[in-house]
Order: sequence, then structure tokens, then C-alpha cells
Amino acid sequence: MSEFIEPPQTAKTNCTAAQYRADYVRSLSDPDGFWLEQAKRLDWIDPPTIGGEWSFDPVEIKWFADGTLNLCHNAVDRHLADKADKTALIFEPDDPDGAVRTLTFADLHVEVIRMANALKAMGVTKGARVTLYMPMVVEGVVAMLACARLGAVHSVVFGGFSPEALAGRIIDCDSHFVITADEGLRGGKPIALNANVDAALDEHDTQVKGVLVIKHTGADITMKEGRDHWYADLASDEDCPCEPMNAEDPLFILYTSGSTGKPKGVLHTTGGYGVWTATTFHYVFDHQPDDVFWCSADIGWITGHSYVTYGPLLNGATQVIFEGVPNYPDHGRFWATIARHKVSIFYTAPTAIRALMREGDSFVTAHDRSSLRLLGSVGEPINPEAWRWYRDVPGEGRVPVIDTWWQTETGGVMLTTLPYAHAMKPGSAGLPFFGVQPQLVDNEGQVLDGAAEGNLCLTASWPGQARTVYGDHDRFVQTYFSTYTGKYFTGDGCQRDEHGYYRITGRVDDVINVSGHRMGTAEVESALVLHPHVSEAAVVGFPHDIKGQGIYCYVTLNAGDEGSDDLAAELRQWVRKEIGPVATPDRIHFTDGLPKTRSGKIMRRILRKIAENDYGSLGDTSTLADPSLVDRLIEGRVKS
Ligand code: ATP
Ligand code: MG
Repeated sequence: MSEFIEPPQTAKTNCTAAQYRADYVRSLSDPDGFWLEQAKRLDWIDPPTIGGEWSFDPVEIKWFADGTLNLCHNAVDRHLADKADKTALIFEPDDPDGAVRTLTFADLHVEVIRMANALKAMGVTKGARVTLYMPMVVEGVVAMLACARLGAVHSVVFGGFSPEALAGRIIDCDSHFVITADEGLRGGKPIALNANVDAALDEHDTQVKGVLVIKHTGADITMKEGRDHWYADLASDEDCPCEPMNAEDPLFILYTSGSTGKPKGVLHTTGGYGVWTATTFHYVFDHQPDDVFWCSADIGWITGHSYVTYGPLLNGATQVIFEGVPNYPDHGRFWATIARHKVSIFYTAPTAIRALMREGDSFVTAHDRSSLRLLGSVGEPINPEAWRWYRDVPGEGRVPVIDTWWQTETGGVMLTTLPYAHAMKPGSAGLPFFGVQPQLVDNEGQVLDGAAEGNLCLTASWPGQARTVYGDHDRFVQTYFSTYTGKYFTGDGCQRDEHGYYRITGRVDDVINVSGHRMGTAEVESALVLHPHVSEAAVVGFPHDIKGQGIYCYVTLNAGDEGSDDLAAELRQWVRKEIGPVATPDRIHFTDGLPKTRSGKIMRRILRKIAENDYGSLGDTSTLADPSLVDRLIEGRVKS
């Protein structure tokens, strides 16, 4: 087991190895009993007596269908009894010299009521869709909770998206209300949120009746009479009870990252999602009452829903809300913030880890990280090289690192090691969470047993599973349940080792087939980033006369390094030595950046088109962070 790293010993943990084994077995043999018990983590108006009622053919999914509850009550009001004075949110502003704002659960309760009353005053009622287009500030979380309080369905659109992308998402779910701010701030730069909302509503045919505007930077903005309202004008402190919700009432719609195509409006419901995020947060992060948790994701992504707004608050946790970006004012911002607020659990994405790693260790070591006891990663496969750096440098080689695999559609973590129960394997997400039944199948749908590599499916429902794609159940069925009848297909390729550890190899669409050898992109990318000059790599296939597909590698280098023919030749040799001759790259394309989604994921489908010399139809590029990069990549295409 040399690749494995034993977890540190601890006197207090929410789950030991023995407990995991027993509970995992029980979660499969008696799922209803197991999940009805976990459901007691929440306060129900009518506690459920029914567990899962689901079928993957035809597709219909329900959990806890006779239960009634409200998630805002569970995230806020219920903590007033014993945690009123406990800190709920610590706001760290974009400008490190700006004002840190701390809210107790009692303060949060006041804020949520004010926001809910403002929404009511605009006409928001149970079941209405409300679009949030917000900076990463306290009011973003408060607005989500206020929607949940009223039974309105929030649809958060990342504040970095264009007016067109925003309009598309408003129209898709027929939202009549928008919550925004005058401006956002990221890395010292203002973002014209309110002006973008104006552009979206002026240039597109929407049904929006009310826009609630939060004053954040104080910028001078235009307000449209009758439609736009300052939050302060509508907020009020009068009593605002929580709406009783059936467990299967919708909680939110969230559009996926768009890595593989047009974003899907994934719908999550109240009870199952609440139980899933509360339970996963408790075990996966091994949350203890005195922890200071920090998930760096924006609320515009599922990670910001499940592990900023819902998971931590349902557990009564103290957490940091961070408005800024990892490299402002310098590359030490994460670690400075951890030192400042004594963060004990930190959760971020490989894109950030790789970006900080290329800048060298001094930005990390300049700050005290002694408060840290757990580090987590989510969003993309994390290369073993980056994993080791994350653990050794920020984590001082002493803290457990978890690599959590999940999707917008899964609602919360599905594959991970538990921090004090399981040995870690760099590059592997690890083991299934309770109730998760992974299965690997080949392209013909044959089930693969034991150590194997194949397409990752899930054979049983879990409470946090998405119920549909909003307004398009057919697309839901087609996308996830039609490839292999009766199974949920994740779209990801995966290896399982002889210890039952799962390692995601990349999107199935991205698998390359070189001379009959199937290869995940993650493997070649991991080999490339092991090279001392390489910062990041994205690998795709292209048509090759002899081999069927050749290997095309986009490579970014560490700060100060430059690409050359010699370095390209060296990298070919390097990969050949690391993986074997079949994996030898055909083309190395040095670039100053990779096309990424706004959530920081590499969009390989665009890179594939460029490598294939087919850029007539790049597909949906609305979620691309830097569209101008595409032209530069086309120009720099390596032809031989
Ligand atoms: P779209 O579905 O629109 O193409 P997306 O799949 O990127 O976008 P998300 O739901 O944000 O949207 O991302 C889920 C995907 O992210 C997973 O299917 C997987 O490919 C990848 N992923 C997430 N976490 C991990 C991880 N720990 N290891 C490997 N891959 C991961
Ligand atoms: Mg996806």
C-alpha cells in the first residue's frame, strides 16, 4: 500500500474506520431505515415515515415524501435556542483592509427576516422562481435562505456571467424576480452587476417584475421606476414565519458549469437535499462545534450551495464568506485569510491549488497555518503532484486531505475518503459515501468487477439526487438514464483499484483511444504537471492516420519559464517515461492560459475542436471565463 498515506490519529472524530464499514453496509441493506435516521439531523414539522420511493426506469425520484419542513428554519431559527451567540458568518471582503463583518446566528436571523420581508413586499410567494445575481457577500447567503423561508425557488447565477447568460437563465426558468447589488468587487475590480441586470432585461424578453438591489460599493446606478427597489427601502423587521414545505417541494434550480455542453437547469428539492448536505457536511468534513470552516466556492456553483449556504448552516457551523480571489492582493491571500480567521477546515478547487503552486511556496509559508486540521478539494481531478503540494506545503504534511468527487446533480459529496477513518491515495477520490452504490460498466454496458476501469454509474438513488432538469424532464432522462437503462450515468470515466478506491480519469467524452489503448486525459495531464517547468496541462485527442487518435497537449509553464522546441521534446520523453510509449504526446502547444469555465474547469471540448482543426462550431461558450483566449489558441495551433 505504498501509494497510501495513513490518516492522522485523533481523539475525537465523527467516524472511525469501523463505524464507516458498519454504516456503509447498513446504508445499502436498509437504506430507508438508515436515511430516516439521518433525517433526524433536521427539525421537521411532520417527520417523515417514508424513505426512498424511486425508479430509474421510468425515472421518478422521491425521498421522505410525507415529511414537512423548512430549510431556513433548520439553517437559522433552530440554532437560536442553543447557538444564538455563536458566530455563523465571518465576512472577509475583497479588499483585505476593508471591514470584516461577523454575524452570530441571532444576527443572521435578523438579516434573513429583513430580506424575506423585502421579497414579500416585491410579491414573491411560495413556488416563485427568484434569480440571484450577487457578489459573494453575506446578503447572497441571506437571500438564498430568505427564498427558502418563503418557499420560493432560488436560481443563483454566478455574478461573473454576461447579461446574455443571465437573461438565458432568467427566461429558462421563467423567473419574475431578480436580486442583485449595485456592484460586485473581485480582485480590486468593480463588476457592474446592476448594469448587467439592466442590459439583460432591456435586451431580452423576460417576465421580470421586480429587481431588489443591495447597496454594496455605493456606486452611482440607475434604478428603473416601478421595477427596481433598493433593499433598504423594502426590508423590515416584522414577524415572517417559515413556510411549511413538503420534502419534495422544489428548493432551487442551478445551472451546471457547461463543461460538456449547454448548461442544464438542475432541480433539487427540500427534504432529500437538506438531509444529504447536512449528513455529508458532518462526516466528510468531520465537523466539530469549534471548527472554523471555509469553502472558497462562489454561491453561483453547487459547491457554494451545498458547502457554503446549506451544509455548514444546517450543522450550526462557523464559516468564512470570502468575496475575493486567490491572487489578490497577492498569491498569499488564501493563507493570509486562514491565519486571520483561524480557519480549521479549508475546501477549494484544483484550479486554485495549481495556480498557487506555480507561484512558489513563499506565499504560503509567510502565513501561519497552525489552525488548519483538514484540507479538501473539489471540481476536477486533482493531479497527484498538486495533491502532494497541497498537503505538504499549505497542510505542513500533517493534515488529512480529502478529494471529494460529486456533481451539481448529486447535491453533495459522493466519493471521498473520510479524514480520520481512511488512508489517503493522492489522485484518488476514494470510497463511496453512505448509500452511494457506484458501478463501472464498459461501453456495451457490461458490469465490470474488481479492479477495473470504465464508465461510472450509480445504481441506486440517494436523498440528494436531482429530481429533474427544470421544465425538461426528457432531457433529464436522456442525459443521465438513457445510456445505460436503469442506471444513473455520471458522464465520468473512472478506475477502481483492488482496495475499492475510485479514481476519476476525466469525462468519458474526453477519453482518447491511441492505437487501441484507451486513456483518460487526467493520466497524461498528471504526468505532464510532474515536470518541474509545467504548471498546468490539458490533453485531448485529434484524428491521426496511423494511431486512430493522436495526443495533443496544451501546456502552461511556471511563472518565469518559456516554451521551446527543446522543452517540447523533453516533455514527450518525460510522459513516455512516466506512462509508457503509447502515451507519448504527438503535439505540445505552449500557451499562457487554458480555456476554463467560470467555475475554473478546463473546457476540453473547445480544446478538442481546436486540435481537430474544426472551429466552425465551438458549441455553447457562454460559460467561458476568457473568450479572447480561444482566438489566441487557434492562432497558435501546433500542426505537426
Ligand atoms: P456540465 O454538466 O454542464 O458539463 P460540469 O459537469 O463541469 O458541467 P459540475 O456539476 O459543476 O458541472 O461538475 C461536475 C463534474 O466535475 C463531475 O462530473 C466531474 O467530471 C468533475 N469533478 C468534480 N469533482 C471532482 C473530483 N474530486 N475529481 C474528479 N472530477 C471531479
Ligand atoms: Mg456535468
